[in-house]
Amino acid sequence: MAAILTAGEAVARIAYLASDVVVSVQPALATDSEFSKFLHQFAAHDASSIICPTTPEILRVRHNADPLLSVYQPVRAGKITSVATSSDILVKSIPHLYRLAQHPVVIHVSLHPAGFPDYSDITSIRNAGFAFVQSNTLQEAQDLALTAHALAIRSGKGVIHFFDAANSKSDQPIQHESRELVTQVLNVDLVRQYQGTKSEESTLYVSEGRSQVRSIGLSGDVLPKANGSTSPPAQAAARDESPAKGQSSASSSSSDRKNSSSAQSEADSATTLESQTKPVSSDDIDSICNSVWSQIRTSTGREYSAFNYTGPRNAEAALFLFGSDPGLFAAEFESATQADFFRHVGLITPVIYRPWLTDRLNEVLPPSVKRIAVLEQVRRKTTKWGPVLLDLLMSLKASDQQQTPLVVGYQLGYIEYTTVTQALSGIFQNLLSKSPIQNLEVGAHQGPSAVLSGVQNEFALSQPKLENAYMKMLDQIFGQRLLVANSLDSKSVVASNATKSSPEFGFGSLLARKEHRQRFIGEVQAAAKTRDFTTDAPLKWLSQWALAAAKADEANKLAPEVINRLSTDGSPTATKLLSSKGLFYKESQWLIGSDAWAYDLGNSGVHHVLASGENVNMLIVDSTPYSERAAHDAARRKKDIGLYAMNFGNAYVASTAVYSSYTQVLQAMMEAEAFEGPSVVLAYLPYNREDDSPLTVLQETKKAVDLGYWPLYRWDPKAEEKGEEPFKLDSERIKQELQEFLRRDNHVSQLMRRHPQFHANLSESYGSEVRKVQKRKAKEAYEALLEGLQGAPMTILFASDNSNAENLSKRLGSRGKARGMKTMVMAMDDYPLEDLATEENVVLITSTAGQGEFPQNGRNFWEGVKNSTDLDLANVNFTVFALGDSHYWPRKEDRHYYNKSGKDLFARLVTLGGKTIVDCGLGDDQDPDGYQTGYGEWEPKLWDALGLGNIEGLPDEPPPITNEDIKAGSNFLRGTIAEGLKDQSTGAISAADQQLTKFHGTYMQDDRDLRDERKAQGLEPAYSFMIRCRLPGGVATSEQWQQMDAISTQLGNETMKLTTRQTFQFHGVVKGKLRPAMQAINQALMTTIAACGDVNRNVMCSSLPEMSELHAQAQAVAKKISDHLLPSTTAYHEIWLKDENDKNVQVAGDAVQDFEPMYGPTYLPRKFKITIAVPPHNDTDVYAHDVGLIAVKGEDGQLTGFNLLAGGGMGVTHNMKKTYPQIGRMFGYVDKDQVHFACEKIMYVQRDNGDRGNRKHARLKYTIDTMGVEVFKANVEELWGQKFEEPRPFHFDSNIDTFGWLKDEKGMNHFTMFIENGRIEDTADFPMKTGLREIAKVHKGEFRLTGNQHLILSNVPSEELEMTKGMLKKYKLDNTNFSALRLSSSACVAFPTCGLAMAESERYLPELITKLEGVVEECGMRQDSIVMRMTGCPNGCARPWLAEVAFVGKAYGAYNMYLGGGYHGNRLNKLYRSSIKEEEILAIMKPLMKRYALERNEGERFGDFVVRIGMIKPTTEGRDFHNDTAELEEDDE
Ligand code: SF4
Repeated sequence: MAAILTAGEAVARIAYLASDVVVSVQPALATDSEFSKFLHQFAAHDASSIICPTTPEILRVRHNADPLLSVYQPVRAGKITSVATSSDILVKSIPHLYRLAQHPVVIHVSLHPAGFPDYSDITSIRNAGFAFVQSNTLQEAQDLALTAHALAIRSGKGVIHFFDAANSKSDQPIQHESRELVTQVLNVDLVRQYQGTKSEESTLYVSEGRSQVRSIGLSGDVLPKANGSTSPPAQAAARDESPAKGQSSASSSSSDRKNSSSAQSEADSATTLESQTKPVSSDDIDSICNSVWSQIRTSTGREYSAFNYTGPRNAEAALFLFGSDPGLFAAEFESATQADFFRHVGLITPVIYRPWLTDRLNEVLPPSVKRIAVLEQVRRKTTKWGPVLLDLLMSLKASDQQQTPLVVGYQLGYIEYTTVTQALSGIFQNLLSKSPIQNLEVGAHQGPSAVLSGVQNEFALSQPKLENAYMKMLDQIFGQRLLVANSLDSKSVVASNATKSSPEFGFGSLLARKEHRQRFIGEVQAAAKTRDFTTDAPLKWLSQWALAAAKADEANKLAPEVINRLSTDGSPTATKLLSSKGLFYKESQWLIGSDAWAYDLGNSGVHHVLASGENVNMLIVDSTPYSERAAHDAARRKKDIGLYAMNFGNAYVASTAVYSSYTQVLQAMMEAEAFEGPSVVLAYLPYNREDDSPLTVLQETKKAVDLGYWPLYRWDPKAEEKGEEPFKLDSERIKQELQEFLRRDNHVSQLMRRHPQFHANLSESYGSEVRKVQKRKAKEAYEALLEGLQGAPMTILFASDNSNAENLSKRLGSRGKARGMKTMVMAMDDYPLEDLATEENVVLITSTAGQGEFPQNGRNFWEGVKNSTDLDLANVNFTVFALGDSHYWPRKEDRHYYNKSGKDLFARLVTLGGKTIVDCGLGDDQDPDGYQTGYGEWEPKLWDALGLGNIEGLPDEPPPITNEDIKAGSNFLRGTIAEGLKDQSTGAISAADQQLTKFHGTYMQDDRDLRDERKAQGLEPAYSFMIRCRLPGGVATSEQWQQMDAISTQLGNETMKLTTRQTFQFHGVVKGKLRPAMQAINQALMTTIAACGDVNRNVMCSSLPEMSELHAQAQAVAKKISDHLLPSTTAYHEIWLKDENDKNVQVAGDAVQDFEPMYGPTYLPRKFKITIAVPPHNDTDVYAHDVGLIAVKGEDGQLTGFNLLAGGGMGVTHNMKKTYPQIGRMFGYVDKDQVHFACEKIMYVQRDNGDRGNRKHARLKYTIDTMGVEVFKANVEELWGQKFEEPRPFHFDSNIDTFGWLKDEKGMNHFTMFIENGRIEDTADFPMKTGLREIAKVHKGEFRLTGNQHLILSNVPSEELEMTKGMLKKYKLDNTNFSALRLSSSACVAFPTCGLAMAESERYLPELITKLEGVVEECGMRQDSIVMRMTGCPNGCARPWLAEVAFVGKAYGAYNMYLGGGYHGNRLNKLYRSSIKEEEILAIMKPLMKRYALERNEGERFGDFVVRIGMIKPTTEGRDFHNDTAELEEDDE
């Protein structure tokens, strides 16, 4: 084993071996302390502990988050707990120390700043009831850390072990203490007794302060004697056990020992309640330490005693050091010459500082010593005499010596080897003088900065980086006016950083500023009445300003004018006023704090500010993640500042979360500022570590907000005066405590009465019991339903992610019924597990998720079955059918994941005594008919086994309802959508309507980030709707942009997505807001009809109007085709656009019938997409669509027509080779006036020939491949009555966007800006949405959406160019200086809203690119574009199959990788690796990119390169996609 190099490591190892829980106090969660690195390493490697039966828990706590509060919970749970911390936290933790001293807690303290710490951190807490052990060398750090743990365990009391790490930094490495010795010393038997008893205490305050009744420590300890036998501790203490170094022991029972400096008095003075067990005396501590040290001595030969004395036994003078670096002094003494004052002197240092063992001191102190210099490194001295000096005086007085030595105290400053001789000379010169002077200072005041820049600097206060988000927003709103009174960088010379950042300091300074300004206003008013100015102008401006001084807007508007007038005046009065010119502006004054303030409200600045009633704004950032909300630990639960402030009654209070609603934060900040009186803005930013990714923070925030743990609200107690509601709930749900407050509050009770809907929000309960009750009710209802039926019961339980297992189960249920059984079908997690043993026949059907796990709705069931110890299934007949994919995990070693969930379940039920009906069935996606193949064999066996195999006359099974049935029965897309929208009992709509609403441009989705948590709470998923607009060619006016912006803010989730098909998409629109959103879109002269569904969708067109005339003509064609192919149903208008009272509204079933001349009642078999590309740009991926039109330019530069491609398409299903992406095949040239007819006829042939029986095979690409290109084309030509001409020549340069400014042929300017993955949103770093909105207010041209999800600010006249550039710059929208790799990337939406997503996409691709950019830079490829795309599933919304490199989601965190697409979007790529995670992606991509940089031919594209070097075979067309993939899938053995 490697040697130990630092004291931190030595201590960390012992703490790890000797604890169940180690509280690791760190400067920041992402910054290590000298202990934490090692602690986490041990835990990460699952290193075994001696005390903890499993891996000890390492609890990270920030040093400013009341760290010792975290100790109570494990201690109460009977866990041996220790703390590893710096000394900075000790004084602040005094209230905890008093309580914790009564538990066997060890606190290892590294004194800070190392090298020159202030020992007052130790002396100030010396009476808290702890025993104190000090170490100096590296070896001591290890041995005394062990001593501390043994002492705590054997005494049952708290022990503080402290050391200055700098003292041992030059020590030689030491060996690890042997585990045998550690085990022996710790007394593991005693520990087990302790761990076996849990404290009855329920709160922090009950019975704290009492000695513990647990059998640990002296109540039950049996101390080993030096010879290894054992004896009870009291006796051991009484016995004259020989002290270290053979000094004679003082009489342990001497009553003199119980003087005021004895441990008993100190330990007990720490508590006021009587002990129930024998109190621990200083004798006991002494005796335990001696016993431990005797064991260490026997094993290692190293000796320890309570005081360490070095020097001659006949020394006449000695130095007692309570400070840094005894080694330095000892060395100096050793090398002293005859000339030195300090020759022949001794050095004493305490090893046990508390209890102060007088006798031990007297033992080590040679009787010859007549004078003692006491050096105390105590900077915060509150008394004239240092605490150690007093200890020593008491000891010496109590000693038997006839003549007590003379004691002289010194305050020790910083001493190093160059100054030590001089310092010691001074000390001893004074000491040995006739009348020594007390309290002399020796050494330098300050330690060197080099010493201070060590570890402890990391403990310096700094704002965690993540928390800057809110600061940036304050800055964004208030700009120059912002004043953060307790900011760390404020230029206060008098205050330390710790003081400056405190709310009290900030508040004080704000009050001072306020008074100062008030005075200044008085001065201005007075000056305005004088004639002291040279000119007249200042008078008018000053009096105007004085009137407006209190109003920020007006005062700040006037300020520059006033200053201007005063500057030109030049009079002494003007000069005087100008000397404080900053006061002409009214600041926005803020105090910023963290949730650490929340722990003790009464003492904090929050309370002071509220109580003062002053107009001060507070922003309090809370970073406790929802999942770590420590609800189980009442002691750690924070006070609710919001509630506290509302109860106060006079404050504006807002609860906000930047990752939930950016707009609400802005609004709250502005309202807080405008509020006359104290304001508290609570800002949520949950993170575990400061370097957490934004995605983690976002997910945590969403959970907390959605479930009411962190509700969003604003409370303005003065709102009623303005006729407004005082409380505004900005999120859906609130927690119990807040709800109670609101109920008590009169205003809100009235509010709730007025708005019953609001009341429902407030009073909706969510508790852990709800789910259980629901399950039972559901099952009972089902049973009641079955009551009347005859036959044997059969319970069918399923776990299903993609509804295959669910559908199979339902079908099995109906077949069972048909055979006379009483069948019940439910999801596993909906079934009350405790009933399982009472079932007769159970069939379990599960699919397989991830690495052989259960799907989401079976996980709890499986956990219950797996962990149950009392489930007896002896009377249960059961079987299992599992669905999986044998090739899902291509590596051999992962094969066991295949159908693992089902197999595990089967095995476990057998173990629990269940009797198998038939063996576990296995369905494999790889079989010819997928899982149906295996199921088809298994199900008959099941009926046979149940004796129901050959039943005659079974009724025909109703065919499953298909999309075709839904369309046909929908009455031209009406269904029951209108009724469903009115149903307020659910956020969802019916399954059939979910299909139909797609035709209206909206999908139902649920927030997948919240699924698990909501399920655990017994809530339905967080349903909301995605709305997609129809925007031919992707062109929107500025006004439309603003309208879209407003819709997303008011009705959606505040963001909008620019899609790969050039349109706007809104997410997070809840059902109640769906109609208003649709109406708003229509008011913006847009529509959503046929934006999704089995119809012709939005028609795309190349975006950049480089050749403006040609482009405008192509654009007009896009619009013409779009309009031409629109469905005719009036259902859209009727459902969404007419108001509630319109009598003419047609509802389903009315006599009026629509007519769809082009589509007919069942519309198309599948979606149908058309796009136009204007060469040389293939920015719309013309090959990827059902119909691709390549614009052809005539000699005159005008549009003549198009080359038409048909049958492109992207959707694929993983591992289903029948599905493949395809590129459009060239049909030929069509004239521009005919092209919409050609499209129409292609649509007809597809309508009549597409595969309506299988949606996975229904796209045009399959119809063409099935019919053959020529046959299909002939059919089209026949309907059309015309022929396609020979295609005209064309040429593409790229399929990505051209970023930056471009001037078109008419001199108009266009700017293509980079919008990462098309997401328009505001973040604290980049308020892009705000910027675009502001630009839209003045921009007279258009906003063009590109097919790569970027945005073009189009048609900027040259005279407005500078102004536009200025605005783009202001909002940082002009930045296109990204790597070409990033600029060429795109990703689909995927999580959290897309229901089909298997992996992250839009939220992850930017991170992946960041990780690749290092190599890009290294290889000098910053300007080299590589088309990289990512999608969350193989549906291919971001057209991944045409990218040079693509990642397609397979499972959460796992992707299939594809290589070899053509740069111009002209060649499909091919599978290179399947199911790889980030590590493997980087391991492949990094060397590959380097290789590309080095080995590529001139101008060779990445996709072509990987083909040339043989990494991947080219895909010639779709049907070739699955052939010759790079990864050969192994056959099953
Ligand atoms: S590709 Fe898949 S995951 Fe991505 S948005 Fe489309 S359907 Fe959803």
